[in-house]
Parts: sequence; structure tokens; C-alpha cells
Amino acid sequence: MAEIQAEERSLNFLEEIVEEDLKSGRYKNILTRFPPEPNGYLHIGHAKSICLNFGLALKYGGKTNLRFDDTNPTKEETEYVDSIIEDVKWLGFIPQQVLYASDYFEQLYQLAVKLIKKGLAYVDDSSSEEIAIQKGTPTEPGMANRYRDRTVEENLHLFDGMRSGQYADGEKVLRAKVDLSSPNMQMRDPIIYRIKKAHHHRTGNQWCIYPMYDFAHGQSDSIENITHSICTLEFIPHRPLYDWFIEKLDIFPSHQYEFARLNLSFTVMSKRKLLQLVDENYVQSWDDPRMPTISGLRRRGYTPESIRNFTDRIGVQKRDNLIDVSLLEFCLREDLNKNALRKMVVFDPLPVTITNYPDTVEMMTTEDYPEGGEKKGSRSVPFSRELFIEREDFMEDPPKKFFRLAPGKRVRLKSAYIIQCDEVVKDSEGKIIALNCQYLPESKSGADLSGLKVQGTLHWVSRAQAVPVTLRLYDRLFKVENPAASEGDFKEYINPDSLEIIEKAYAEPSLSGAVMEERYQFLRKGYFCLDKDSSPGHLIFNRTVSLKDTWVKEAKKA
Ligand code: ATP
Ligand code: MG
Repeated sequence: MAEIQAEERSLNFLEEIVEEDLKSGRYKNILTRFPPEPNGYLHIGHAKSICLNFGLALKYGGKTNLRFDDTNPTKEETEYVDSIIEDVKWLGFIPQQVLYASDYFEQLYQLAVKLIKKGLAYVDDSSSEEIAIQKGTPTEPGMANRYRDRTVEENLHLFDGMRSGQYADGEKVLRAKVDLSSPNMQMRDPIIYRIKKAHHHRTGNQWCIYPMYDFAHGQSDSIENITHSICTLEFIPHRPLYDWFIEKLDIFPSHQYEFARLNLSFTVMSKRKLLQLVDENYVQSWDDPRMPTISGLRRRGYTPESIRNFTDRIGVQKRDNLIDVSLLEFCLREDLNKNALRKMVVFDPLPVTITNYPDTVEMMTTEDYPEGGEKKGSRSVPFSRELFIEREDFMEDPPKKFFRLAPGKRVRLKSAYIIQCDEVVKDSEGKIIALNCQYLPESKSGADLSGLKVQGTLHWVSRAQAVPVTLRLYDRLFKVENPAASEGDFKEYINPDSLEIIEKAYAEPSLSGAVMEERYQFLRKGYFCLDKDSSPGHLIFNRTVSLKDTWVKEAKKA
């Protein structure tokens, strides 16, 4: 981790390109964009792209547009648009403009007309199967068909007819006339417009022809004067076409650059797969805290800082790789350790009576943040004769190194007294149901005159004041490192224990004022946040992450 923690890092290849472009005067200002297709919720991979695009612009005094790549009418929804805007904002970035490729439909249409007029596009009546065959294979060149030689006038007329709805879906397409023998299949007269009589979430029924990705994307970049159009590696073969359109149309020279998409271990990332998890009820919703969506991570308790830090640490690669999800969790713990409010919550209560303690309530002062950190603060917690401690913190027959409570043994109760276990109370079946202990009056935390050293410190709550809360303990959604690349269906690898619910845990009373924006560390148990399903009388907390990375050890044991 030492290398990862280094504050200063060298420039990534995109930063080098931008610095060079600014130095040489190729561009005065840089303008990047984040171009999601609104057909699903954003995931952590998109967060990488957002941080990269916005981060580059911020670093070099440029700007970033959020542009919805909404050129496919059938799969897109306003719900997704809204969630994407919200997610970008939550991550901490403010777009220069929020734009929609669909706003350019008229301009894109006119650009296609311009190509036709230059003799560089033609209307093709072939079916998609015929086009696929005519395109050839990577080792055989494609074949021209009779439509390729249509005159400019005929093409203009037919394209106008496509626009005005004279033809059925699939009856005609507009293709760019590039090069049917190019070794690059993308260049073999790609389709740039298709007929699709479908309602669009913004343009309604105004259009029945829609531009294809390659035509819409680059031209939208150019319309907006995007300088650096950053996308993932699979678009490398599309770059010659991107450049071809810009050159032939003689429009603003945006440039495309590619980096490796983020893949995370124990996670699936494609929107299509995430949609299956939602639709087939493997998870409850897009923002289920087990989902790698930004809204899921947010609900789980991730902070924007931890995600931004993570994307910065993994850097920008030119080769595909699989990033260990532990690194994401490491960045999260690092942030939460500094900033989470400390609270005491007993998950599995064992009643304790302090037999020599009077029948009163004493307020104990305890720190809100770790000692020595930047954040300071303290609060009071009630202490009384009747307490709960964690059942697992007591053993009747402990092994040697058990530093918690056992018959005749002493422990400190956090920010309170040292207690000693005198008696174990059992029911008729021999189950331990309570402990009788005595406290050492001299041993109060902060004013300890007992001179005793005890090895264990336990969390606890006072029974009368404790607030019952529900806990949702989340774990990784998949059992294997790379579910998408494993044999068979990725859903076979879902971890059946990814959610454990504790219906009734006991929290210190201050937690009754818990708010969703806050992050909490339940002492010795993990990091938690309030879930949106909570109501005033029924608080539900999500486990964001455990205190330590126990997964690796457990995976090895198993
Ligand atoms: P998916 O394959 O998950 O459905 P997508 O690439 O189809 O994602 P888009 O909405 O088209 O999703 O992506 C918007 C932007 O986010 C694009 O620039 C895309 O390259 C980038 N992006 C998507 N997934 C990742 C990822 N895993 N890592 C980095 N960038 C990504
Ligand atoms: Mg896409």
C-alpha cells in the first residue's frame, strides 16, 4: 500500500497529452465531457470516468459537460436521467452544462445531408443480414452493392423520405461511404442512420430516424467544441471513423483518447447485468446497498471522498485489468476512520447486573472521534446498574488469550468502570441468560485510582435507555473474484449470505438522533449509516464495511 499512499504521483498519460496540447497552443482551454447513455444507473466504473473527465478539466482550468447520449429511443428513461444528474452532483462535480445528444438531432441530420451532398453517404435498401454479409470478414474485403452508386439527388430524396416516415423500420438505412476493403471493419461503410418508429423520452414522436453511436457521438463532441473526448479501450477501432467524419465534415477537431475501463473484483459492472439483478429480484433495487451503482454505494454509506480517492489511486491505465475491491474498501475505511462518529451498539445482548451499583443513572463522557485525530467532540452516555454487553464478549471457559469477560475476570467498560464477573446465571437448559458483576468504584475512566491494568475494553449500553435498532449487515454480492468471466451464468456466483439482518440490536440513546448524512463507527463492530427505510420509531442501519478486511483471511480458511 505504500506506493498507493504516496501523495505525489507522476502525470498519467492523459495529463501528459493535455499539458502538451496547452503548451503547444493546440487548444487554449480544454473541454471534456461525460457522456452516459441514460439506460441504467451509473456504477463505480462510471465514477472512474466522471472523476477522470472532471478531474482533468479542474486540474487544467477547463470545463466539463454532462451530455446524455440519448440517441436510442427504446431503452432510455427519465428516471435514469434524474439519477445520473444526482450521482454526478453527489460525487462533487458541477457540469459546465447539462446537454442531450437528442438536442442535436436537427444538426446531426444536416451533417448527414452534408455528407450525402459530398457523395460520402448513401441510402441502402439492404436488410441488416445482407449488409452483414456484404461487409465481409476481417480477412475478406466487403462487397459494394447496387445502392452504393445512387446519385446525390436520389440519396437526398430518399433520406428525406426516411425522415418523413415513408418507410418502415429496417427498410432503409443511411451509410457512410468510407472504404469497403478497409482492414478495419468499422470503416466498411458503417450505418449512420436507421429508421425506428419509437417514442423518444425528449423528442417524443418528432423523429423516426435516429443516428447511430459513431455518427452521433463524435459529431456531438464537435458541436460542443470538446477538446479531449475520453472513452474506454473498446473504442480504439472506432477512432479512424471518428476522425474521418470530422475531417470530411470539416468541423471542430475534437480528439478521442482511450483508457482501460475499471473492472472490480467480486463485482459485475455492465448495466445490462446490473439490470438483470434488479429485474430478477436478486437485489431489491438499483440502489440496493450491495449494488456497485453510485446510488447503491451512497446508500451503503460510501462517501464521495472515498470514491474520488479510490479512482485517483488506481490511476489511468492503457491495458485492461481487474482492481481488487479491497482497495476501494481500504479508501473507505481510511476516510471513515477519521470522520465517523463513534457510537456503542450491542448486537447480541447479554444482560449484566452491576450488583454493587446504586439504583441511579450516571452520565459518562466519551469521545466522538478517535484520539489524536483532527475531529474533536464528546458526548454523554448513561450508565446504570442494568446493562447489556455483547454475548460474544463473555466465555465461561475461555481459552488462554481471551481478553474479554469470564468468571472471576475483569474488563473495562468503555469510558466507564472496570467490572468483575462474579456469577453466571443460566436457564433450566443451561443457557447463559445473564451475568452478575461488581464494579470497582475507584476505576472510573479519566479518574482511575484503582491502579489496575485490564486487557480488554468492552462496549456496552444501559438497558433502560438503550434504543432498539435494526441492522443490515451487508457482504460482497459475489463469491468469486471475477463473476462475469467465470463459467456459466454470472448469477450462479451470487453470495447467498450477502445480507444478514439483526432485527433488534441495542444502541446508546444518542443514536435516536441519527441522520442519513452522518457516518458512524459502532465500536468494535464496523462502520454504519442510517438507511432511508428508517422511520422515527424504527431506525435501520446499514453496515458500510467491517472494521478490518477479514474477507481475505476467511477466504483462505474456507
Ligand atoms: P456498461 O458497459 O456498464 O453498460 P457503458 O459504457 O455502456 O457501460 P455509458 O453510459 O455508455 O455506459 O458510459 C458513459 C461513459 O462512462 C463512457 O465514456 C464510458 O466509456 C464510461 N464507462 C463506462 N463503464 C466504465 C468503466 N467500467 N470504467 C471506466 N469508464 C467507464
Ligand atoms: Mg454504452
